[in-house]
Amino acid sequence: MDRIKLSPNFYLDEFTRSQTAVRHGIDMSVVPGGLIYSNLRLLCKQLLQPIRNELGPVNISSGYRPLALNKLIRGSSSSQHCIGKAADFTVTGYTPLQVAQWIEANLPRYDQLIHEFGQWVHISIAGPFRDARLNSLTAVSVPQRFRKPKTVYVPGILSIEDAVTRV
Ligand SMILES: [Zn+2]
Repeated sequence: MDRIKLSPNFYLDEFTRSQTAVRHGIDMSVVPGGLIYSNLRLLCKQLLQPIRNELGPVNISSGYRPLALNKLIRGSSSSQHCIGKAADFTVTGYTPLQVAQWIEANLPRYDQLIHEFGQWVHISIAGPFRDARLNSLTAVSVPQRFRKPKTVYVPGILSIEDAVTRV
């Protein structure tokens, strides 16, 4: 079957790949023309394709997440991944911090932009009917005594070293 293109450099299958979904038999199919598909296309058009055009190849690590998958990986219950409005990615040749800083300075139309643990960038669109919030955050993992580490979101795009001092 031919790959379905969302924008000049992005294909639908890049957003529906998940080892966890395969292992648990979760259906990742997205209906062309449906709501999730339209949101993914808008995500590519407004954000990912402009990033690709300026910085080069974008590697999507997580795109669409059906609710069952989101639950399994303990994602936020209101995650924009569940409606195809968000993606996690890295860009070849740049650190996630560099990518997030570039987006913040050059692409002021994201709904939420998160520098996640120094490992990847999360970005989302508001969608066709809402204004973009331009909410930028840095996620850090804070060790807890006798408990699992806690994720804290610090305002702004910061290095992880800077972000932990502001927790
Ligand atoms: Zn994400």
